[in-house]
Amino acid sequence: MAEVEEELMNMEEEELDHMEGEVHENGEELNEDKEKDLDGIKLEVVEGNKEGSRWLIVDSVHICHKQQVFQNHDVWRCEDFRDYKCPFKIITTKEESENGLQIVTMTKKLLHNCSKDKVKPILHKFRLKLAKRMRADLDTPWRKIWDEERKILMDRLKSESQLLLDQVLLELKDSRSFRVSAQRARAKETPTIPKTHEEMDPEKVNSFL
Ligand SMILES: [Zn+2]
Repeated sequence: MAEVEEELMNMEEEELDHMEGEVHENGEELNEDKEKDLDGIKLEVVEGNKEGSRWLIVDSVHICHKQQVFQNHDVWRCEDFRDYKCPFKIITTKEESENGLQIVTMTKKLLHNCSKDKVKPILHKFRLKLAKRMRADLDTPWRKIWDEERKILMDRLKSESQLLLDQVLLELKDSRSFRVSAQRARAKETPTIPKTHEEMDPEKVNSFL
């Protein structure tokens, strides 16, 4: 077992070297692939879809999932790595470190080979906001929270971009999926003791698997 773990650690360190720009035998990732100018790149960490998971949003567009965790830094990978083999990776310092979350190194943003726009991060954050309000304002009905939060979002986007507003409005037409996740968040806040196996929330049961 210890041997396997050691092997895993070595692999991770090797991958890290790779990321920090050392030319690899196969040469697949070179220094030219690294972003030179790291100033002004916007980082935002939000909750992910799975309980306890964290997503890093780069420049309000690119969603990255935490891939590896080291003592002093985290490695994040574009969410489309698995499906589209998007090569984008970013190493950051820890959120809780002295100077907060900062970029150590990252792949050039131009090298994303996935299609990205601002809509998905906006919808994800909107969903988180709805869930947060549903947990906090237990006496406020869903419809009221939805109307209020939707208006806040629309007003913000209106001043930002008409195109973005139109795209987001289109996604919000189907309010059902937002309602389902928000109501689930509220249900978790007021848990009932499950009497039968069927009443158990499978998400809660599986959250540590
Ligand atoms: Zn990508």
